[in-house]
Amino acid sequence: MSDKCVYCRCDLNDGRAVSVCDRCGRHVWGDKMFNAIKSSMGNAKEKGDLFQGSVNEDVQREFRKAA
Ligand SMILES: [Zn+2]
Repeated sequence: MSDKCVYCRCDLNDGRAVSVCDRCGRHVWGDKMFNAIKSSMGNAKEKGDLFQGSVNEDVQREFRKAA
């Protein structure tokens, strides 16, 4: 299953948790912020359902702040 970047629609084939390519992510959020988003989403995936609710809220808050 391949994903597409929500901004430029390029293919994302590395199974990342966030549907944004590196180029667009850096452009939109900046390097540091994009890395934080990627790692918090990756962690949420690894931790599974137990922490999903609170982690998702954190991520959504980060997205709103960065938007
Ligand atoms: Zn992109």
